[in-house]
Amino acid sequence: MTNKKELLAIADSCVKCGICSPHCPTYTHTQNENESPRGRIALIQAWAGGNLNVTGNLLEHIDNCLLCRACEKSCPAVVPYAKLIDDFRAEMHSEISSPLSVKMVKNFAENKRIQGWTKSLLTLYQQKNLQKTARFLHLPQILGLGKLERLIPNFQESQTLKNYYPAKNDVKGDVGLFIGCMGELFDFETVNAAITVLTHSGFNVHLPESQACCGALALHEGDAKTAKNLAAQNQAAFTNENLQAIITIASGCGSTLKDYALKVVDISYFLSQFEFDLKPLATNIRVHSPCTLKNVLKTDKSVLTLLKQIPEANISVLPDTTQCCGAAGTYSLRHDNMAQTLLNELLETALEKPADYLVSSNIGCALHIAAGLRERGENLQVVHPIVLIAQQLK
Ligand code: SF4
Ligand code: SF4
Repeated sequence: MTNKKELLAIADSCVKCGICSPHCPTYTHTQNENESPRGRIALIQAWAGGNLNVTGNLLEHIDNCLLCRACEKSCPAVVPYAKLIDDFRAEMHSEISSPLSVKMVKNFAENKRIQGWTKSLLTLYQQKNLQKTARFLHLPQILGLGKLERLIPNFQESQTLKNYYPAKNDVKGDVGLFIGCMGELFDFETVNAAITVLTHSGFNVHLPESQACCGALALHEGDAKTAKNLAAQNQAAFTNENLQAIITIASGCGSTLKDYALKVVDISYFLSQFEFDLKPLATNIRVHSPCTLKNVLKTDKSVLTLLKQIPEANISVLPDTTQCCGAAGTYSLRHDNMAQTLLNELLETALEKPADYLVSSNIGCALHIAAGLRERGENLQVVHPIVLIAQQLK
């Protein structure tokens, strides 16, 4: 556990220039210094220096941070902002309470047995029209689960995944595929597409059964112990020395995994080095760059490089000034107003140009954005870029 001295040393590395503030979504929308990166650092600095007590206000300002890391990317002093916030939240873990929906997501992420039950329950919930009835009776809202329930996509039962998929063409090597806690249940389309494209590209794909959640949810909730256990499980699962890379299909997972596992690489970045023979797709595609892809992994440009290989596709990336969509792990379940404000802004930008697809490389963002589009009655389909590549393979 980090001590106050270490937190103080990190906070002291901030020179208070404020260059980060205009990049911060919470500061942009509140114009409150306590809701800016510099303000949050100053609050932690004061607490760690013994000049500020822990109060509800202090915890709230830190909790309001999305951990989008736009500040970190723009900081000339390279302040490790996310580490400061994660470590502070870990110090405060016993003081922080979470709503039921957040507890449910966290339990789901950390427990494979719960993932199995959820799969059966969700299949029943959607296939037997229970969802329609529950929504009509406002049951999710009554149970305090309205925000979580709206994220459930039109659920398709996934097939059982194998541990190994051999290359379909000249073998280039072996890779591990990290599917995280969400992949099999909520993003099977992307998992399938990743296996298709990787095996087509000449890679033997390994999916160790013992892989676990990346630990991001636990880490950002201040549950350092669980995050550490999950990291150890993943390190043990991907020990195969023959693996050239551990491929991630969700940039949120990738940005956490890369802190404790070597060879972690986002799938679009990995595949952008290869040329594909693709069928034309005469359509408009908008590209959303998740914060974790552009601010942490910093490989957002590779999505464009990859998609540009699709003949006749008209691709436009959302402007660089587009801020976090508000999903941010479990943030949207805790901070409905800010999450909805940020989502609305993003949707308005995305819908400025007509398009059939909006690609996003992070399942958390994709579910949040897709829910917003469904509620607006928009037909824009949210998919992972690799789904389009798999779909267009000749
Ligand atoms: S991580 Fe994002 S929300 Fe948090 S202070 Fe930095 S820019 Fe603001
Ligand atoms: S840009 Fe960096 S050094 Fe400047 S105020 Fe922000 S965190 Fe501090």
